[in-house]
This record gives sequence, C-alpha cells and structure tokens, in this order.
Amino acid sequence: MTRNTFDRKAVALQWRRTKIIATLGPASASTAMIQKLIDAGVNVVRVNMSHGDEQTHRVAVQRVRRAAKRAGRHIGVLVDLCGPKIRVGSFERSRIELETGETVVVTTRPVVGHPGLIPSQYRSLHKDVKAGERILLDDGKLALQVLRIRGTEVACKVIEGGTLSNHKGMNLPNSRISTSALTKKDRKDVRLAVELGADFLALSFVRTERDVKQLTGYLKRLGHEIPVISKIERPEAVENIDAIMESSYGIMIARGDLGIELPAEKVPLIQVDLIQRARQKGVPVIVATQMLESMMSASRPTRAEVTDVAGAALLSADAAMLSGETAAGQYPLQAVQTMDRVLREVEQHQWQEGEFADEPIADRAYKTHFIRESMAHAAVQLTRDLDMEAIIVPTSTGTTSRIMSAHRPLAQIVCVCADPRVCRKMALHWGVVPVEIRRSEITNWRKVCRHISARCDLGKVGHDVLLVSGFRDDPEKNEPVLKLLHV
Ligand code: PGA
Ligand code: MN
Repeated sequence: MTRNTFDRKAVALQWRRTKIIATLGPASASTAMIQKLIDAGVNVVRVNMSHGDEQTHRVAVQRVRRAAKRAGRHIGVLVDLCGPKIRVGSFERSRIELETGETVVVTTRPVVGHPGLIPSQYRSLHKDVKAGERILLDDGKLALQVLRIRGTEVACKVIEGGTLSNHKGMNLPNSRISTSALTKKDRKDVRLAVELGADFLALSFVRTERDVKQLTGYLKRLGHEIPVISKIERPEAVENIDAIMESSYGIMIARGDLGIELPAEKVPLIQVDLIQRARQKGVPVIVATQMLESMMSASRPTRAEVTDVAGAALLSADAAMLSGETAAGQYPLQAVQTMDRVLREVEQHQWQEGEFADEPIADRAYKTHFIRESMAHAAVQLTRDLDMEAIIVPTSTGTTSRIMSAHRPLAQIVCVCADPRVCRKMALHWGVVPVEIRRSEITNWRKVCRHISARCDLGKVGHDVLLVSGFRDDPEKNEPVLKLLHV
C-alpha cells in the first residue's frame, strides 16, 4: 500500500480483525487453490479428519506450509478430530424408507440393514438410550422415539419419516453417551497431527472438561502440547461451558450438530452467550457451519447468509469458519472473498463508531485475573485517548496478545515473536497480526518498533505506539508493563 498522506482509516483497517478459517477438501486440495485461498485472506486452515486419508492430509498440510511461506504469512493449521460421531451402518439396497408412525428396530449387531432394521455403528447404543428418548438421523431430518430395549435391539416409533441411506449421521440429543470423547481413530489422528506440526486440535462432541483433559493428557504422554479447541455441539457442553473454557485453549460454536442436538432456535442466543463468555475469559471463539452454505453451488450468497457472517463480526467473534463451502463446494475462492468483504464492511463501520464490540468486556467480571484485566483495559483506553494506531506486543508465549485481543481495541495489535509456532497460534486471534523477528531483537524495543514500521506500514509517521508485555496466566508471575514509544 502506498500513501502520500497519512490516512488513519486505511492504516487502521489494513488488516481484517475477524479471522477466516477455511476447511480443506477436494475443492481446495490443489497447490494453486490453497495459494489462492491464502492470498484471499484465509488465516487458518482446517483439516477435517472425518474425511480423507492420512496421505491426503499430509500432502495438504505440506502445501499449506509452502503456500504460507511464499505469501510471507503465518497460517495456522487446525486438525479437527471426528470424536464419537455416531453413524448408521449400510443397507441391502443402500437406502430404506421410513414411514411416519411405523415401528422400526435399531440394532447394534454388525449386520446389513433392510426396511424395518437400522444397524448402528455405535456398539453401546442399546446401553445408552432409554425409552422415550429421541434418535435423530441424517442431520435431524428424520426422527425416532425409543419405545423399548431388548438386548441389542432398540424398538422405535418413527416420528418423522423419510429416506435413510448408508452411513448417515445419528444424534442422541437426550442420552448420556458412555463412549469416550477420544476414540481409537482420534488417537491415531492426534499422532498424525503431532507429526504434521498442527497448530490447533479441535475436539468434537465435548461434554465436560474431563473430555478435554483426556486429550491434553494424551498429548502430554506423547510429549507434546497443542492448543485444544473444544467444539460446542452437545447440550451438556453448553451446561458445562465455564469449566470447558477453563480447560480449553479456545471454543468452536459448532452450529451444525448443535442445531440438531438442541432445537435450532436455541442456537442464536447460545452463540451470543458463548462469544461474550469467551471474551471475558480471554478464550478465542470460532463461529462455524453453514455461514455461506448456498455458495456450495452458487457464486453468490443469500442475503440471510451475508447477515449471518456480518453477525459474527458484530458480536466480535475471533473467527468465522467455512466448511463445505471451501472443502467441497464449487466456489471455494468466492466464498472466502465474500466472507472477507462482509467482515471488512462491518469492521469499518465499527471502527468509525469507535467500538469493535457492542458489549464492552466487563472489566471486573474475571476476578482471578483482575490486575491483568485492568491493565489491558487501561491499555485499550490509552490507545483510544491518545489516538494511537498500534499496540505492539513482544511475547514469547502469546499470552499478552491473547488478552489484549480479547479486549478488542481500536488500535491494531501487532504480536512480535521469535517463535513461528506462537505466530501461527496468533493467526486465530481477533485483530492480531503476528510478526516474526529474531530472538536477539526482542530485548531492544526501539529496534522492534523500527522493524515493525518497516514490515507493517505502521507507526512510521511520527506517532506513538503502545508497547504491552508481561501478562502471565499465573497471577504470581504476572508483571504487566505498558510503555509509550515514539517512533
Ligand atoms: P463438523 O462440526 O463439521 O465436524 O460436524 C461442525 C458442526 O457440527 O457445526
Ligand atoms: Mn459437528
């Protein structure tokens, strides 16, 4: 960007604050497409373990790393574990018809199904369901109600009929599922994620913090530490959200399954609540699923979808996610470009209004980190009062920039770090631009700022920038420093 005169707005909005996550798949597997998606502004790519084989994932991640290097940007890789996603087995003629009102049997025996008999791939189904509970099929399009259980056979009444084909998903919204959130396949996928140097792991169908701890424990035994994103898609997860947030690095509002397991009309208010709680705890939050669904097969989104993407920015989520749109749709690049435009439009308005979130973070809400939160609050206030365009955060772990980001300042947050892994972690966070520098430079703040102004087109006009550092999660080690620097 070249400018003769200082254009504050252009500088302030040079970078989109809300991050974009794109899921890779057949539509976006080629080196050329990955490069295009990154150039269009994707910050994090999601590798979905529910589809594709090991080799496909391995190649995809290599391509992402290479494309990121060419673009000179830090792109996070999020490996999404399937978790205990329950599916039906297969049928003699690939599909059966379910008539509303008829009685059918769901069996956990490993058999091929036929009209009246639905095999479940989940072997403990008959132990986990109780009479009166619902079993939903194919994204909730079909519904059964359990009548009685005899051994491995679960007799059900069809509440909502239709066609059921091989391997469709099954949701048990009312049941306590006894299986572990980390399946055998998940463990194998975790080992692959470690090998690929994944920046985040997403855990599906989390119920309590115990599920999260099982994954972090497993990682520890492997001798690794990867930030865990808990996917909120079970009713229990909503009930246990505070404990889940405290044991996770971030959360994903997985609206696809959440809207099946709970009535879909519950999802919007849950989304608002989860984003607010996440910001108060300094936990990054992702809004996911069907954001631009119609772009699977159309080059333009519906107005409702545009409004949904805008809503994520208005609520100040950290990231908005594309799933099928970029993985299997016909217009992966257009989907990213659309999302980028919509988010920027909202952000420009918010910036002009002087507020990036409707609801400013309640600064006394998070009592265990009161000092840290107050300092962050003061930093945001200071940059606003003094009209500063950048908050520079030299960091070794990313904690300080994570906290500053949660306060959604008007000034651009530039995270300066010598560790490329931390830089990639920051790719997920609202409003953070990661800049990698040499370790030796980190001790000299003035040099850091000069480096930033050269690299980022920031702070080169004789303005002040605010240096923020020293936030720690351990209150004993927390030594926040705010320093005003004239560049
Ligand atoms: P999925 O998760 O795409 O892995 O199912 C997201 C969701 O359920 O919304
Ligand atoms: Mn899901």
